[in-house]
Amino acid sequence: MYRIQQVAVLGSGIMGSRIACHFANAGYRVLLLDIVPPHCTAEETARGLDTSSPQVRNRLVNDALKAAVGSKPSPLFRQSYASRISTGNFDDDLHRIASCDWIIEAVVERLDVKQSLFERVEMHRKAGTPVTSNTSGIPITMMAAGRSEDFRKHFCGAHFFNPPRYLRLLELIPGPETDPGLISFLSSFGDKHLGKTTVLCKDTPAFIANRIGVFGIQSIFHRVADGSFTVEEVDKLTGPVLGRPKSATFRTCDVVGLDTLLHVAKGLYENLPLDESRELFRIPEAIAGMAGAGRLGDKTKGGFYKKTKTESGKTEILALNLQTGEYEPSKKVKFETLEQTKSIDDLRQRLPVIVSGKDKAGAFYRDTFYRLFQYVSNRIPEIADQPYRIDQAMQAGFGWELGPFESWDALGVQPTLTAMEQAGFPPARWVYDMLSSGASSFYAYSGGKRTCFDPKNGKHGTIEGRENMLSLVPLRRESTIWKNSGTELIDMGDGVLCCAFKTKMNTIGGEVVEGLNKALDLAAEDFRGLVIGNEGANFSAGANLGLVFMFAVEQEWDEIDLAVRMFQKINMRVRYSPVPVVVAPFGLSLGGGCEMLMHADAVQAHAELYTGLVEFGVGLIPGGGGTKEFALRLSDELREGDIAFNRLRERFLTIGQAKVSTSADEAFDLGFLREGKDHISMNRDRLLSDAKQRVITLAEEGYVQPLPRKDILVQGKAGIGVIWGGAANMRAANFISGHDELISRKLAHVLCGGELSSPTLVSENYLLDLEREAFLSLCGEKKTLERIQSILTTGKVLRN
Ligand code: NAD
Repeated sequence: MYRIQQVAVLGSGIMGSRIACHFANAGYRVLLLDIVPPHCTAEETARGLDTSSPQVRNRLVNDALKAAVGSKPSPLFRQSYASRISTGNFDDDLHRIASCDWIIEAVVERLDVKQSLFERVEMHRKAGTPVTSNTSGIPITMMAAGRSEDFRKHFCGAHFFNPPRYLRLLELIPGPETDPGLISFLSSFGDKHLGKTTVLCKDTPAFIANRIGVFGIQSIFHRVADGSFTVEEVDKLTGPVLGRPKSATFRTCDVVGLDTLLHVAKGLYENLPLDESRELFRIPEAIAGMAGAGRLGDKTKGGFYKKTKTESGKTEILALNLQTGEYEPSKKVKFETLEQTKSIDDLRQRLPVIVSGKDKAGAFYRDTFYRLFQYVSNRIPEIADQPYRIDQAMQAGFGWELGPFESWDALGVQPTLTAMEQAGFPPARWVYDMLSSGASSFYAYSGGKRTCFDPKNGKHGTIEGRENMLSLVPLRRESTIWKNSGTELIDMGDGVLCCAFKTKMNTIGGEVVEGLNKALDLAAEDFRGLVIGNEGANFSAGANLGLVFMFAVEQEWDEIDLAVRMFQKINMRVRYSPVPVVVAPFGLSLGGGCEMLMHADAVQAHAELYTGLVEFGVGLIPGGGGTKEFALRLSDELREGDIAFNRLRERFLTIGQAKVSTSADEAFDLGFLREGKDHISMNRDRLLSDAKQRVITLAEEGYVQPLPRKDILVQGKAGIGVIWGGAANMRAANFISGHDELISRKLAHVLCGGELSSPTLVSENYLLDLEREAFLSLCGEKKTLERIQSILTTGKVLRN
């Protein structure tokens, strides 16, 4: 039985300090320790301190934590969570690990340092306490050597990726004596409490993700050595078009640091004498030369790319010419093959087009994919027993939308295998065996679940750890009950329906409203409740602004009025549905997306939720019930005893400054989520199953359709006066533009319920009418149209 309440993190460097922050995010108390600095700084000496002073002894750890907490993007969900971390040093405080339930080592990557620290840990740790190492590649057996049996039994690798809050991979590496119960505990703990994709690895060099990731990067280094591709070309070919991060290959190297990368590659070359592709881990001359010249990337202000200023002071990005070693202005890249994929949104459909390209891009893709597929197939069972573990590691650790085996499935296993043979990259034997057993793909679907081929058993089997997770991919095949161009209605089982958006960036337009209406009808008739959620890159970028712009330019006011009414109405249907509706947002949930979640009976949000009412930036106010909802929540807060005008000002500024939460925790602080009603899922992959469970719980707790609200206390003229006065002062000081002032006045008008002479109780419908009127009148403003146009064409907020 393992139970975690407090963890110790040993080492407060880049990783240790941020791992500590992430445990604080998850609600745990953390003890963060580091070495005592060997000397005082000149400033400390001048202040009369010496190495016996606590300030000096804890300087390293305190400075490291401060730097981490202040870094961007923040490692903390809420800044105040830093108070959950206490600090100390190895000499004075190591005994405090006796009260910790998990000891995480994250000191320098040196076997001698780690071993001697573990020896000291052994003197203080309670028997049975798990100890893990964040090592990127030192064998677990070597680190455990010399330790007691109890230590070895409770010791393993737990490899977080940088930055630990944002990168979702946690590799778990048992040693030969590690308690299997500990691995299954950490697997489940990492998944549910830390939000990680936990992947079981073997104790092999660089484990899974870095082994395959560095193989991919090294293959490209060798591929471009002849000058056939430029840095910009490779990044264009290996970024979002392949469902991989924008930083693609070379930009990623700059961010990670070429030295770090080459260190891993060198380690792999030295420690993998039997790897059939070992030569690829040898560093090509040009790349070694770059490292030698200190062109390591962002940390040395120049790597494969370099930022400079032109004579006119404009920032310019230069790219390294790999042949000449000189930086040149980075060039726009175009390939015929990529042109053909522009309209294909689904990566699984894009890949076959990419790989059959007739130009040099097509040849590049065939070469890199076939090589990769051969390599990963040969790594089973060396680094993992099942293909899905490699896919999961690449998705969660390197941000790939599809892992290697999933990509191979998308291309067709058999035809790709034939092409691989012809190209000289035949795969491992087990792939042939799989095909001759009658299976035609690595993944299969049955009973709404995804399975994966297991070469050990020669048949498809369950994906460990995912048994209770819900994914729309397999469900969609068997349980879609209705769809249109913007939504799919999918039966999630156990009487719960899901309405998933599928428009570009999941924007909300007429087709989504139609789908939601249908979903609410069906849910009321045949289901226990409804989940509104999807598995796109973001929950929703908001209402379809393009449409609003078009109608406004054409002065089709009736059309805008109709569209806004429809949107208000659907959100009100969400609020007043006879069955519970749970919205499951994640990532960006802006404008209309935020309004929708605010109308749910309950929100089940992913911890990484970036939500806000951002309409002000396009010269509007929230018009789909968002402003009304803020007025309603304000009224409820006032009843709880808050001071009226302070809270009014806060609510006003949240919309007026288009504030967007940087986490779900912050969405509570901003008033988009409600304490007690709305919940958080740490793991994105659990969001839909958690949302479904919320619907079931609400239904079982005896959900009753809410009664329309007619008791919203608004402040009328007095409140309007407060906001108008503030806005006029801001305008006078030139902090806001004249148009900002106009929008502020309209927003205040709605939030305060119009020009009422005293605080009054009003209904939701009354406020919705005011909100719609204000929205429409702003659509008629030239400056609003200019703002919308700027967002639509450049993505930038225009402050006119
Ligand atoms: P870092 O250099 O930022 O921090 C290392 C820490 O070790 C510092 O706090 C330092 O004070 C401490 N230290 C130095 N000498 C010591 C000694 N003699 N005894 C005890 N502590 C000592 O390193 P990092 O990047 O945080 O890496 C820490 C571990 O995490 C390493 O094992 C590394 O391989 C692994 N890792 C790093 C990354 C990454 O991207 N940086 C990613 C995954 C894993």
